Amino acid sequence: MSNLRLNAVETASNRKVTPVTRPEAKLSEYYGCKVFDRKAMAKYLSKETFVAITSAMDQGEPISRELATHIAPAMRMWAMENGATHYTHWFHPLTDGTAEKHDAFIEYDGKGGVIEEFPGKLLAQQEPDASSFPSGGLRSTFEARGYSAWDPSSPAFIMGDTLCIPTVFISYTGEALDYKAPLLKSLAALDKAATAVCKYFNPDVKHVSTSLGWEQEYFLIDEELYNARPDIVLTGRTLMGHESAKNQQLEDHYFGAIPRRVLAFMKELEYEAWKLGIPVKTRHNEVAPNQFELAPIYEECNLAVDHNLLIMALMREVARRYSFRVLMHEKPFKGINGSGKHNNWSISTNTGINLFSPGKNQAENFRFITFVANVLMALYKNNAMIKASISTATNAHRLGANEAPPAIISSFLGAQISSILDKFEKASLDDAIKMDSKKRFSLGVGQIPEILVDNTDRNRTSPFAFTGNRFEFRAVGSSANCASAMTAMNAALAYQLVEFKAEVDELIAQGHSKKEALFTIVKKYIKESKPIRFDGNGYSNEWREEAARRGLDCETSVPVIYDCYTSPQSIKVFANGNIHTEKELHSRNEVKWEVYTKKIQIEARVLGDLSLNHIIPVGLRYQSQLLDSVAKLKTVFPQDKFEKLAEEELRLIEAVAEHVGAVKANVDKMTEARKKANRIEDSRKKAIAYHDTVLPCFDTIRYHIDKLELIVDNEMWPLPKYRELLFVR
Ligand code: ADP
Ligand code: MG
Repeated sequence: MSNLRLNAVETASNRKVTPVTRPEAKLSEYYGCKVFDRKAMAKYLSKETFVAITSAMDQGEPISRELATHIAPAMRMWAMENGATHYTHWFHPLTDGTAEKHDAFIEYDGKGGVIEEFPGKLLAQQEPDASSFPSGGLRSTFEARGYSAWDPSSPAFIMGDTLCIPTVFISYTGEALDYKAPLLKSLAALDKAATAVCKYFNPDVKHVSTSLGWEQEYFLIDEELYNARPDIVLTGRTLMGHESAKNQQLEDHYFGAIPRRVLAFMKELEYEAWKLGIPVKTRHNEVAPNQFELAPIYEECNLAVDHNLLIMALMREVARRYSFRVLMHEKPFKGINGSGKHNNWSISTNTGINLFSPGKNQAENFRFITFVANVLMALYKNNAMIKASISTATNAHRLGANEAPPAIISSFLGAQISSILDKFEKASLDDAIKMDSKKRFSLGVGQIPEILVDNTDRNRTSPFAFTGNRFEFRAVGSSANCASAMTAMNAALAYQLVEFKAEVDELIAQGHSKKEALFTIVKKYIKESKPIRFDGNGYSNEWREEAARRGLDCETSVPVIYDCYTSPQSIKVFANGNIHTEKELHSRNEVKWEVYTKKIQIEARVLGDLSLNHIIPVGLRYQSQLLDSVAKLKTVFPQDKFEKLAEEELRLIEAVAEHVGAVKANVDKMTEARKKANRIEDSRKKAIAYHDTVLPCFDTIRYHIDKLELIVDNEMWPLPKYRELLFVR
């Protein structure tokens, strides 16, 4: 009988490196050639249309039907000259990844033939028959259809033979059914609120925009081995597998030499990304074996989110060209590091000032401290909701585990910023006024050394660290759409800044000077938000206890975490700028609970099937082989000698039998729990039942399977082992 695993291992180890198809040309020569960017627009559009669209893009205004009519034919011509035959509205439904439905550029010409056509109305808006996308009940109550509408702030691009037009996806009555619509609204809300606060410092500020630089972690495994692991194919992670004797304990993988085949994959990926105008820059090995990271130069937040989704699709495709499969799951392997997606987040003004960057003089640093204090306050007041924005069934395996940020949101600022805030907090109003009149800070606020920008001490255990000129949100999952976390952060800060301005204005109305008023409120915020600041070890048990004492959200059950999306505070935060209505928040939670349940349900089924069809039969076969051997021993040796010789083997038989029995018993228990949970109608209660009663069976089943893996004959074991999966050749 052939063993799929052994064949796969053999094929994987004999794999030759496929040569890279990247051309010799410099990247600047082909960068963005697949994007309908301003350069392409200038070439293909009339001057008038070009001016109209670029100004709409700059102002963040929608494109009129009329304008779309002028743009569509030019866009089609450009796309066809670049090999496109089809077009699609490309959007981010509430499932993983992106959605697209391709239509060819084809119309009857009225003379019995066909022509290529792409009318403006199809550029501006489409009605994909998208009733199968999750809406949390929003559509069934109104109209079955959803609309996709062009988001001109993210340029159209070509993937394969298809012109992709980034769009928002909304219901007939205007509720968001996707990730992009709320993200855009949160960006607008933050722009408005931050601009208003900036005006205290510089009346010339007209706009504040948000930047995102994501760092994408991922695993690569050989496709043959992937195909021999039904758990990875169906759930994205290993549901069983004993630790490899060697994994990451020697710390020899991080920043190590990149294996040749992986490097070839990375080079081709970069080539594809650059053509699409994605400014990827950094590539390196990560901590775990077979784990890697890719990061671009940061970009405007909405564009960066689109680019991250695009790169994930590209990675999947390019990996196949090198006989790899890419795993974006947050925890594909037990016992080694999981994958995150660090979101480097900052906001800056149209006057070129990064508001999270310390300045060169006291006024600039006062502004810096003002924004930092508001971020801390936003994080503090919304820590539960911000955690909800990154909580998923898959990310839960990473958060709270040993190497990832804990399932508690806190912020690390580094020693220097912390001590400046501490001084600020202790300063008296007199100091403030003195500092005002003498134009000199006695608080040290004016003397933040510039080198700080490159010199912040790092705390890898912090989920939300200040890193010199940005905040790095590290709790985002590697498979996530960044929009969820970014919408939460933008919304929280926007609402916080609105409150801040109201408080400052009130003091001014009472007769305080502007600086006095700002100082008073900033100081109050620094004091109030203190519980969110934590510079210690986020993995320690002491922190868990301390965080609970500080009143931070310590909930670890994902379905329960979602509740805070609809807390009174969250409802207020999302109502600002109409980012989400209360109804939307409720319906999106419905979707989240359903997705949670389905993910655990699928894992439970796969684990059950593999246990019953792969593991138990192999365990029994090995057991019977041992029993045969014992029976034969008995025929050869006299009783006393036999007893001595068979002692160890009998113990082994017992162990196999016990583990096989335990696997079966626990699979039965899990199936029972699943059946019971399936009978629950309410989606929240059902998700909680899956979390509380189905999920806990996984660990027990796995424990016994992993023990069996250690004792069963290697030749018989059906699934590629960690030591085979994890070391790419
Ligand atoms: P690491 O955290 O691993 O040291 P890097 O320093 O390479 O990572 O940067 C991580 C990401 O942060 C990159 O995408 C980079 O462009 C981005 N980044 C740098 N400065 C900013 C900023 N001011 N705002 C947002 N992102 C930034
Ligand atoms: Mg980083």
